[in-house]
Formats: sequence, C-alpha cells, structure tokens
Amino acid sequence: MSLTNTIYNSPVFQQACNQFDIAADIIGMDAGLRERTKRPRRCVIVSMPVRMDSGAIEIFEGYRVQHNLSTGPAKGGIRFHQDVTLGEVAALAMWMSWKCSLVGLPYGGAKGGVVVNARDMSTTELERLSRRYMQEITPFIGPNIDIPAPDVGTNEQVMAWMMDTYSNHVGHFDPGVITGKPIALGGSLGRREATGEGVAWFVKAYLQDLGITPEKTTVVIQGFGNVGSEAALALYDWGAEVTGISDFTGGVYNPKGINLKEAIAYTAAHKSLQGFPGGQAVTNDELLELPCTVLIPAALERVITAKNAGKLKCRMLAEGANGPTTNEADMIINQRGDIDLIPDVLCNSGGVIVSYFEWLQNLQNYYWSKGEVFDKLYRMLAKAKAAVDETQKKYNCSRRTAALVLGISRVAEAKAKRGLFP
Ligand code: NAD
Repeated sequence: MSLTNTIYNSPVFQQACNQFDIAADIIGMDAGLRERTKRPRRCVIVSMPVRMDSGAIEIFEGYRVQHNLSTGPAKGGIRFHQDVTLGEVAALAMWMSWKCSLVGLPYGGAKGGVVVNARDMSTTELERLSRRYMQEITPFIGPNIDIPAPDVGTNEQVMAWMMDTYSNHVGHFDPGVITGKPIALGGSLGRREATGEGVAWFVKAYLQDLGITPEKTTVVIQGFGNVGSEAALALYDWGAEVTGISDFTGGVYNPKGINLKEAIAYTAAHKSLQGFPGGQAVTNDELLELPCTVLIPAALERVITAKNAGKLKCRMLAEGANGPTTNEADMIINQRGDIDLIPDVLCNSGGVIVSYFEWLQNLQNYYWSKGEVFDKLYRMLAKAKAAVDETQKKYNCSRRTAALVLGISRVAEAKAKRGLFP
C-alpha cells in the first residue's frame, strides 16, 4: 500500500516506502502493523534567523524527523545541504530505524536537515546556524530521547558547537546528546573512520565470498567526503587500487590508481577536487559507469537510476550513501544478476555502531582504546552479515530485502508487544 497521503510524500520517501513494502510482503505483515511501523512518529520544522557577517539577517529552514521511538531513543545524523527536503529527511529517518534494528542497537531512527549550502558560509555564520538549529530542536532531543550525529555537510566542529549549545541549555556538560564529536569533547576514537571502515569491511568480506583478491580489485567512489575518503583509504590499505573518485564538482579517473593522500591534501587546500591533476577529469555521470570491481556511491540518494543501472560496469555495488539506488534501478540490477549489491542499511552501518559506542562511553565516562572500538565494531558487522546472508537464503530474496526484513520485523515486533497507549 503506497503512503502518499502524507506531508512527507516525495520520490525519495516513496523509494523508502516501496522498499519497506517488498520486505513487509515477504513476511506477511498485517496491514495495521505495517502502517504503524512505516509512518514516521513525529517531526519538527524550525525557522532559524541567523545574523550573517554582512549584518543582514537570513532565515533558514530545518527539520528533525523521529521515525521510531519504540525501541529506544532515536538516532540519526544532521545534514546541511541546499536540496534538503522534509520528505528526504523522513526517508533517511526511516532507513535509520531499520539500520539500528538490523545491527542490534537499542535505538529508534531519526534524521535532521537544514536547507543551506554550508560551503557558501563563513565559519562564524556556520557556527551561528549550527547553534540556532540545536537551540530550536533542544526540546525534542536529549541523551535518552534522540541523539544526532554528523551527515552530509556537517562535521566534528558542528557537533562540538551543537553539544556546547545543548550543554549550556541544561546547565552542565552533557556529551551524550550528540555523537561524532571531537575526541577532546568526548568523541570516540575511531568514529571519524567508522563508516568508511565499515563499508570497506563489507566490501572485503563479500569479495572474499566471491573469491576476488585485493590485487584483482579496482574501486570507484562517488563522494570524497567522510565516508568516501575513509572507505578509499581502508580499501587501498587492504591492497585494492582506487581508480576513480569524485565530489560535487566532478570526478577524476586514473586506471593506474589515484594517489589518495595527494587527493585528500588537494581537497583540503582547494575545498574540492576540481582541477586535481592526478588523473583524467570525468563527470559524476561518467564516473558511475566506469569499469571497476567495486562501485561505491558515497554522496547523495537516487544516483543509480533506470537510466544508468543497465550500463554499470562493476561486479559489486556497495552503498556507502543512504538510498543511492532507486526502486527501478534495483529491479534492473536484480534482473541482471551480475552485480553483488551491499545495501545501505548494512553497508554503512559502521558509523551508527561507533556512534553507539561513543554514546556508551559518554554515559559511563569510561573511554576505550581504538583497538577495542574496532574489535567490537568488526564483531557486530560480522554478526549482521551472517544474519542477512541467512535471511537471504531463507526467503530467496535480494540482499536489500533480506536486510530490511530483519530491520523491519524487529521494530514491528517491538511495537506489537508494546501495544497501544491508551
Ligand atoms: P560529507 O559531507 O563528508 O561528504 C559528501 C561528499 O559527497 C563530498 O565529497 C561532496 O562534495 C560529495 N557530493 C555532494 N553532492 C554531490 C553530487 N551531487 N555528486 C557527487 N558528489 C557529491 O558526507 P558523508 O558524511 O561522507 O556522507 C555521505 C553519504 O554517506 C550520505 O549519503 C550519508 O547519509 C551517508 N552516511 C554517512 C555517515 C557518516 O557517519 N557520516 C554514516 C552513514 C551513512
């Protein structure tokens, strides 16, 4: 049953709902429980007046969608991007619910977003916007209610300003309100690398299942931010060659391998990859169709579509980004049968797992070594992979549907057992 009579209605929200329905059909979820599990629980929309450096006041719009609060406090990142919509934030919140449930975290799902091109702001403007957003959503969040984290366009510094704003509001240092913080403010060792490291862990594990060795592996990555660059470094360290990377300005391709350290230094110095001399310039559309063993979309949603799904030349599609593949593209990839797809809710779950570790360390005031963090992370990833592989066999379905069956059924069961109030 499509969910169109809602304020969240949009192509990306429908994409998440359609994925949900395929999984709910397989397990025969009844209509009442299905609607209750699918719909976001609540959202807040805020307008934020921010004084710009010029002295002018600009009003920005922001959202926080809490999709599921039945299985613990909600968890999910905050995105700063000019194309953010309420429907997109709702879809991302839904995927957070299934992801947390799939990997066994005691969380619900949420997401936040602000409609802004943060690249056009000065540091002081960005700080004022980050603080104002946190101030506006403070009544709706907290270490036991909803715990944000970084996403596209936000980073450790933004998390630090937000944590400081919340802590000033409650009157004491309260680092458990947000994750992805700098280490000096209660951040966890390994959190910065965690999402990309987790993506690389799944890529290695599934390539090993296919009998493909590191020396035979080439990797193309769309999006060279936190997730894309950390996945690139981890796969290079394993022995693979990264032959294509891109950001919002376009990409670069070098069949002999890209010097990642130089690309990272260039991006830091020039704020983008534009003009990076380490290979041949390609557009983002061309990049996705490059020949490679592993293609990793690590930027935004809906980039693998009906238009390019038939033309992909990869053996594996590892979804570092959330929602990169449309429903139509999913069908084409399933029909092709020659691409091994690692779905977003599994593939990029390393980030929220180490965010959970960060929150636990904040609540305990007891901090772990990087080795402990990664050891615990890898064990959780291995458990999730084994559960997804078993579920895929059981239902003879796609890996995405198997992952969603696990994520969705645990949330639905919790809702059914809790019953209705009053
Ligand atoms: P980021 O802001 O650090 O990096 C985003 C990258 O994508 C940048 O290189 C940017 O230039 C590029 N980009 C933006 N628009 C683009 C476009 N139109 N075409 C090509 N590239 C474009 O963000 P991130 O934290 O690395 O997040 C990337 C993806 O991973 C998102 O889908 C996010 O939801 C997902 N994700 C992030 C985390 C995390 O811990 N940060 C965890 C799980 C999933």
